[in-house]
Amino acid sequence: MRKKIIAGNWKMNILPSETEALVKAVAEATKDYAGKVDIVCCTPAIDVPAAVNAAKGTAVEIGAENCHWKASGAYTGEISTGMLLDAGAKYVIIGHSERRQYFGETDETVNLRSRAAIAAGLTAIVCVGETLEEREAGKLNEVIDRQMKLGLKDYTVADCEKLVIAYEPVWAIGTGKTATPDQAQEVHALIRAILVELFGSETAETVRIQYGGSMKPSNAAELLAKKDIDGGLIGGAALKAEDFAGIIAAAAQ
Ligand code: PEP
Repeated sequence: MRKKIIAGNWKMNILPSETEALVKAVAEATKDYAGKVDIVCCTPAIDVPAAVNAAKGTAVEIGAENCHWKASGAYTGEISTGMLLDAGAKYVIIGHSERRQYFGETDETVNLRSRAAIAAGLTAIVCVGETLEEREAGKLNEVIDRQMKLGLKDYTVADCEKLVIAYEPVWAIGTGKTATPDQAQEVHALIRAILVELFGSETAETVRIQYGGSMKPSNAAELLAKKDIDGGLIGGAALKAEDFAGIIAAAAQ
């Protein structure tokens, strides 16, 4: 039985000075679900220290939204896995569609970043998902297959212990359009089948696959009831503690 994982993706929102209040509000609103659901807030890198501090003694764990694959060096503007770990982060989102769309992230850099994160001891939340054009052109399976196989190239079975996949249809992110539970389940089953192909069924059964794309308290229960939907990656609804807690309550059912 896979434990559900609900992770907030704060994106480029929430100031360092606002971080403590939001993390504490999330911890308070979700305290009844501590231990039942993995609760994560992935914050801008500059918010991580304040978030880690605010989450001390609670069930909330903190992650970042990106990391570089090199340990250190002349990579202006980048954040290393060692920096995130030193600040107390446990998770990192890799390959979010906004990074693929606006910052030149490729399946190859997703692979480099996520392998570095896992090797360092972080849990990598690796995002995959198709655009509307790709779906309408009948390329859904091809896109997911490519993102999974290139993104997870050279992964070992042991690496999968620190791997979470987030299926995020690009057309559902921040748009208010949610994939129906059946549409989402169909792709989650495909992702699970690719994991079986890559790592064998025993390992594939342990990897958690989150759904992301306009998940909110009103639609979370239906999505999370599906066999292969093991949690959510939450954008907009992660910025309000009561909305985020509503999703976590649904995951605890
Ligand atoms: C996301 O950014 O990962 C996301 C799912 O955003 P939203 O929940 O706002 O659609």
